[in-house]
Amino acid sequence: MAPTHVLRCCQRGLSWIPVIFIALVVCWSYYAYVVELCICEYPSRIGEQIVYLIFFHASFVMFVWSYWKTIFTKPANPSKEFCLAKVEKERYEKEERPEAQQEVLWRAAAGLPLYTRTGSGAIRYCDRCQVIKPDRCHHCSACDMCVLKMDHHCPWVNNCVGFSNYKYFILFLAYSLVYCLFIAATVLQYFIKFWTLCRRKSAENCPKNNLPETHAKFHVLFLFFVAAMFCISILSLFSYHLWLVGRNRSTIEAFRAPVFRTGSDKNGFSLGFRKNVAQVFGDQKKYWPLPLFTRPTSRIGLLPHHGSLALLRDVPGAAILLFSSIVSIVAS
Ligand SMILES: [Zn+2]
Ligand SMILES: [Zn+2]
Repeated sequence: MAPTHVLRCCQRGLSWIPVIFIALVVCWSYYAYVVELCICEYPSRIGEQIVYLIFFHASFVMFVWSYWKTIFTKPANPSKEFCLAKVEKERYEKEERPEAQQEVLWRAAAGLPLYTRTGSGAIRYCDRCQVIKPDRCHHCSACDMCVLKMDHHCPWVNNCVGFSNYKYFILFLAYSLVYCLFIAATVLQYFIKFWTLCRRKSAENCPKNNLPETHAKFHVLFLFFVAAMFCISILSLFSYHLWLVGRNRSTIEAFRAPVFRTGSDKNGFSLGFRKNVAQVFGDQKKYWPLPLFTRPTSRIGLLPHHGSLALLRDVPGAAILLFSSIVSIVAS
């Protein structure tokens, strides 16, 4: 086996460590909450525990479902229309001067719906994948592929967050926040009881309903700390991504504004708040809370508002081509 192949296998294995860590924390939180707290420790308060368990399982299922979909949804790549034909590829590789290579790319991109350029005004091309990059597409070095509407590569899901799974990622953040908030809020009373017990130093002096001296109290202690810690970190990330959704901006575009024919514009893809939200969550509100793929029905939505009407006159049918090329990848 070649050393590079072994190294790649090791890298691939190691990249699952953050996901395994999250999975172990989630499994432990389930055991600590359901078994240690609800079933073993307080079986007498049955009514309260049943209500807690119903809400707990509802948030748990939604959280695991959206996390699973974020991890295992393959990133969408540019369709074959964006690949150079064999002759063009040979010509591109033969040319050594960047200007001559750009000429080949300009000819190849003539019929494609491209509105963004590099900072120097050139056609965006990925040498690694040998493909003309569609608007909002970026090469991910971790996945070693070009990803449509790439937002970022997330180590916690070991996947690229982009066109195919951005909705799932947002829902994963939302449901993990709900899960952690619910645990923190319901465990708080037991957490306080535990500290009351600690301060008194002796279980004999404690009131009857205080948490007994069992290993369950350590689960309660850690449950509260871990849930509160995750709440704070997820809340900041979730708020930031909601802000991005409202502006139809990816994390990459927030750091580096996309460059259009008329110059760079950080709001170049914004279509107004409602349409921006529909770009990620789809037009049918009933599917918004579910981690199911809901494609945006408005074709214009995939285009930048930045001079879009003028651009459409330049390239008739461009929007439909871009839309159908992306949809065909997702559907396949
Ligand atoms: Zn690439
Ligand atoms: Zn990636």
